[in-house]
Amino acid sequence: MSSPTSIPSGWIDGKPHHSTGADHIVINPATDEPVATVKLAGRGDIDTAVASARAAQPAWGRATPAERAGVLLALARALDAESDLLIAEEVAHTGKPVRLATEFDIPGSIDNVDFFAGVARNLEGKASGEYSGDHTSSIRREPVGVVGTITPWNYPLQMAVWKVIPALAAGCAVVLKPAEITPLTTLTMARIATEAGLPDGVLNIVVGTGPEAGAHLAGHPDVDMVTFTGSSAVGRQVMAQAATNGARIQLELGGKAPFVVFDDADLQAAIHGAVAGSIINGGQDCTAATRAIVAPALYDDFVDGVADLMSRVVIGDPTDPATDLGSLISRRHRDKVAGMVDRARAVGARVVTGGSVPDGQGAFYPPTLVADVAEDSEIYRDEVFGPVLAVSRFTDDDDAIRRANDTPYGLAASAWTRDVYRAQRASREIHAGCVWINDHIPIISEMPHGGFGASGFGKDMSTYSLDEYLLIKHVMSDIHGVAEKEWHRTIFT
Ligand code: NAD
Repeated sequence: MSSPTSIPSGWIDGKPHHSTGADHIVINPATDEPVATVKLAGRGDIDTAVASARAAQPAWGRATPAERAGVLLALARALDAESDLLIAEEVAHTGKPVRLATEFDIPGSIDNVDFFAGVARNLEGKASGEYSGDHTSSIRREPVGVVGTITPWNYPLQMAVWKVIPALAAGCAVVLKPAEITPLTTLTMARIATEAGLPDGVLNIVVGTGPEAGAHLAGHPDVDMVTFTGSSAVGRQVMAQAATNGARIQLELGGKAPFVVFDDADLQAAIHGAVAGSIINGGQDCTAATRAIVAPALYDDFVDGVADLMSRVVIGDPTDPATDLGSLISRRHRDKVAGMVDRARAVGARVVTGGSVPDGQGAFYPPTLVADVAEDSEIYRDEVFGPVLAVSRFTDDDDAIRRANDTPYGLAASAWTRDVYRAQRASREIHAGCVWINDHIPIISEMPHGGFGASGFGKDMSTYSLDEYLLIKHVMSDIHGVAEKEWHRTIFT
């Protein structure tokens, strides 16, 4: 992966698509070396991709559930057969550890494809029968149509799969715009999908920038639905763009997950959970543990234990299987993370470990623990998206829940306790799309992922996600065949 190769600007109508846009260099953020060059696609390329999807969607939507499931199963097996390539690409353009890509990104993506192959055959309506006496009612579930999808750089393949695959299972055709800094694995997935038998035009990829290609896709008049994963600020712009056409929308946005440690928690479990949950994927995870809110009785031991475990994290070459923490996505992003930690220090927080930018190549940043953070400080309130855990102490259980909810975000949270009543209370009262009890991070294809408030709305994964891509149609049929129906009496005297 060290010498840059030229890659297509997209995958449209079952083949590579070459744009004439400006050159963009995809960088390996761990080595600062170019990985690939791509000519960025623009508005005209989006138009071509949307037209391709529009032409392909009716036949794909009419395919039987078994036919669609068959293609998805073939895709899952083909992705599995090329998993070494997908892992190498994912590591090269993100700088994430190869162990994470091997054990999480790629198998998680394949499991999602497998899951939706099964779900594709489970499209039954919920209510058939006679509800008025004179009619039989039934439910048809029909594909939304053409779906425009915009995805971020943190888990490039997985974020794409979470949107694209349920849409395909539902019978939609898709135009996907990945983040232009991480285009490799989505392009590879599209090529593999075509080879696995997905009809041409059903999945189209366009590699372009957000303000140009992304905005045009979000506001495209021939797109029926827009699904977006990314920052809350851009999500709002995308929603406004989609609203110009009245398109359906689903948003998975940022997070600021609280990690609440009650005084009866298993301290060692909480320490391990906090470190794993805050450094996974370099902390560039919308559900990462970012705000540890800890009982006074455990506070000092928690801080000491987390700092000790963080100091033993192996940082370095992402291609080395022994590496725990690779590089962040870019030097620019690393500088943003470092700036937030510096400002936290300047307003009186205690940087217990980490917090300094290492010399040398790559966008590396160490696991960082910032203790005694003030509730009104930037590091406590804003998304850092780096391997940084901010810790503060609560006074009592009411204060713990209040602090957990003291954020506009509502994506994920965890509560650490051995008390079943506290666990129940936390799961009920913390306002987030997912509340883990005595764990933080695991996700499964069978269960929904998606937030509340500034974290967006709608779900990825699970059968709830399939519903995002389906229209519910009520079909009501007269069962008596008489001209003068009972209800006409309200109209005719
Ligand atoms: P981002 O919002 O900057 O970009 C996301 C995508 O939107 C990219 O493809 C980008 O090119 C595109 N985009 C940018 N401006 C656009 C515009 N004006 N119109 C249309 N598209 C535009 O986010 P990012 O930096 O790539 O990713 C990090 C963010 O994503 C974090 O906030 C993180 O929390 C969030 N995220 C959320 C989830 C979730 O499931 N909730 C998952 C992963 C990441």
